Amino acid sequence: MKDSRHLGHPYGLHRVREPQGVLPQPAWKIDADPSIYENELCIEVERLNIDSASFTQLKEEAQGDIIRIKEKIWNIIQERGKMHNPVTGSGGMLIGRVASIGSHYPNHEIQVGMKIATLVSLTLTPLSLEAIHQVDLQTGQVEVSGKAILFATAPYAILPDDLPERVTLAALDVCGAPLQTKRLVKPNQRVLVMGAGGKSGLLCLYQAWKEAGKEGQVIALEANEQACREIQNLNIAHEVIQVDATNPIAVHEVVDRVTHGKLADLTINCVNVPNTELSAILATRDQGLIYFFSMAVQFTAAALGAEGVGKDVQMMIGNGYGQGHAELTLNIFRESPKIKELFVSRYASR
Ligand code: NAP
Repeated sequence: MKDSRHLGHPYGLHRVREPQGVLPQPAWKIDADPSIYENELCIEVERLNIDSASFTQLKEEAQGDIIRIKEKIWNIIQERGKMHNPVTGSGGMLIGRVASIGSHYPNHEIQVGMKIATLVSLTLTPLSLEAIHQVDLQTGQVEVSGKAILFATAPYAILPDDLPERVTLAALDVCGAPLQTKRLVKPNQRVLVMGAGGKSGLLCLYQAWKEAGKEGQVIALEANEQACREIQNLNIAHEVIQVDATNPIAVHEVVDRVTHGKLADLTINCVNVPNTELSAILATRDQGLIYFFSMAVQFTAAALGAEGVGKDVQMMIGNGYGQGHAELTLNIFRESPKIKELFVSRYASR
């Protein structure tokens, strides 16, 4: 232990190594020493959920080779003290057991031995690994041994006992998206979800279906054929369309057709690959709103793309945090056994 002496900065400034003076998220390197400051908490890490944009990039760069993916994950964490993919800039989150709690850690409900999921990005979570045991190529979940640190301000969730851990991990990584969907969708709106068959896409679809009501129209766009079938079986979208979200002309055409020229009032972008900004922009009506949850979205492409096609749309960055986001997301599984079943079959059956 660091003789349990000082309090760290509540936002983790004390662990920033390079460059000095910035916060842990934008820092290149942070100190992942597992000995805690008095207001920190240490987790014995069991599993990482690598952010989908990051995992897709790592998988592509390693041409699907598990050994090379392991090496890349290992090297990033060794070099930066956190799982912060330098290409995509994104992270993910983790689950593990509480190993030690500083005497000034602000939350008193938590105890050593409890299993928790961090609700703060891996791009700012100090992480030191002892081993990477297994990488799941389908889900981006990685079984590891190691230690992580939570700063005094970092949110977390105690794992519920009515859901498989791997389902909880998959869902909590994206739990900001359904919360924002609940806030943004108004009754009777036309809501478009891009990348609708993935984790965040499905949760957003469900929430949009609930909020838009009988007179609303929920449109699911997805490239993957199997995922389109799965959405259809869930009965949470009026239209399920298989289309490539990186093709703006094709996306505009189908959305124009199914909305009879009105386009979407609200577009939620949950795709895990780059170059989808213009599709979202063209599919949304003037004065409509685009919620860019995807981490593969580029600010410049969105801002200049909208200007370039003369589209007066509002655009919103997908904050991963919102009050009550974890509870709302886990409740979706309690409300919809079919969505729970699908997540279990994808994320907890192997
Ligand atoms: P996911 O589960 O991998 O889902 C992405 C979906 O998009 C998949 O169904 C995928 O199909 C589909 N897709 C891929 N390429 C497509 C294309 N060209 N056209 C249409 N659909 C396509 O991802 P997720 O975990 O929900 O994450 C979605 C995005 O949110 C990612 O970019 C992730 O990095 C980001 N994210 C943001 C935050 C935040 O705080 N804002 C937090 C977590 C994650 P396939 O399965 O066939 O690839």
